Amino acid sequence: MALIVKKFGGSSVKDAKHVFNVAEIVVEDYKKGNDIIVVVSAQGDTTDDLIAKAVEINAATPLKREMDMLMTAGEQISISLLAMAIDKLGCPVISLLGWQAGFSTDSHHTKARIKKINTERMKTELSKGNIIVVAGFQGLNKYDDLTTLGRGGSDTSAVAIAAAMSADRCQIYTDVDGVYTADPRKVKGAVKMDEVQYDEMLEMATLGAQVLNNRSVEMAKKYNVELEVLSSLERKPGTIVKEHVKMEKTLIRGVAKDTSVTTISVVGLKDQPGVAFKLFNKLAQYKVNVDIILQSVGRHGTKDITFTVSHEQMDDAIKAMESMKGVFAYQDLKVNNGLSKISIVGAGMESNPGVASKMFEALYDADINIHMISTSETKISVLIDTELSDKAVQAVHDAFIG
Ligand code: ADP
Ligand code: ASP
Ligand code: MG
Repeated sequence: MALIVKKFGGSSVKDAKHVFNVAEIVVEDYKKGNDIIVVVSAQGDTTDDLIAKAVEINAATPLKREMDMLMTAGEQISISLLAMAIDKLGCPVISLLGWQAGFSTDSHHTKARIKKINTERMKTELSKGNIIVVAGFQGLNKYDDLTTLGRGGSDTSAVAIAAAMSADRCQIYTDVDGVYTADPRKVKGAVKMDEVQYDEMLEMATLGAQVLNNRSVEMAKKYNVELEVLSSLERKPGTIVKEHVKMEKTLIRGVAKDTSVTTISVVGLKDQPGVAFKLFNKLAQYKVNVDIILQSVGRHGTKDITFTVSHEQMDDAIKAMESMKGVFAYQDLKVNNGLSKISIVGAGMESNPGVASKMFEALYDADINIHMISTSETKISVLIDTELSDKAVQAVHDAFIG
């Protein structure tokens, strides 16, 4: 008998028919004698719809605590419906909200981090023979307020439970049958991988491959939880995410796209020591994660600093910059939401000098202009116009994998 954690995303539970499909998958493994904990997301586009409702009330600055109060409702609906479906199939079941399942988080509303899982309740329910259905994406902070873990956070809930309960398996069911070299819905010739290393998966997820949330991969690596990404609609093996893979080290593992990129240029800063420190220190105080940074060469005593943040953090970044005005002067703040980041990922590119030029050539051949470039040992990213982003991914994928 094994303890299996199964996570189903929004598309897998989008309506009654899909909820019953999930219930059948769960019951099948339960009847083989396994203990089962299921983590579910909100149905279909529920979370987006809830956010749209908040925007109707206050588009600019809805209270983050209340956003969490709102968004956690989505998962409450799906856990109760799935529990009803499992009950109808004749198996004992109980649904639990995040806090009932023992999730304690910090107080960073809409982007909270899990601090601890008190597993007592889950253990009790399993010992009673119940299948447990847990609401993903949510927890409770030390003030007993509801929190959420950031978009796509149900993956993290599942991995956290698998780690805390020392589960034998953690399966992430979704609407594609595994992890591909690029988004299989958008890129012709994308190839399914049987196995992928944590580090490469983490890089892909961080750079926009939404199939797994990056924090979930980070946590899986930290606690050595092997993941399987598989389809909820077809019964076939998916992709295993783990530390050591059998596959030969290829040059490029995959191509990812992130359309949630905002560039902010702080124009006409004084060209003197401490400016960059003060600017990024302020961004850190506002909890803004900065990605790519570019500083112009100083001229006539001034310089520009451009950095990128996610769309989500744009407002906080602008507020941080506006609050700087009293500290030091700059001439202008330019914000651009129309760029996307295209990245190639692979542990093998480190020792291969031709990779960057091959990527840039593919973009040149497709007549796509590059605005910014950033590299590390395992990835190369470029910023390009969003309207060309699908074409860019296809061109780069064709050059390396297709
Ligand atoms: P869920 O609702 O199950 O959490 P998501 O929409 O978050 O599902 O993630 C699944 C989607 O991720 C797929 O439908 C696919 O379009 C997209 N995706 C992006 N990059 C990849 C990739 N490299 N491999 C597989 N799927 C990918
Ligand atoms: N429902 C949440 C979201 O849409 C969490 C998740 O799907 O993982 O982001
Ligand atoms: Mg997801």
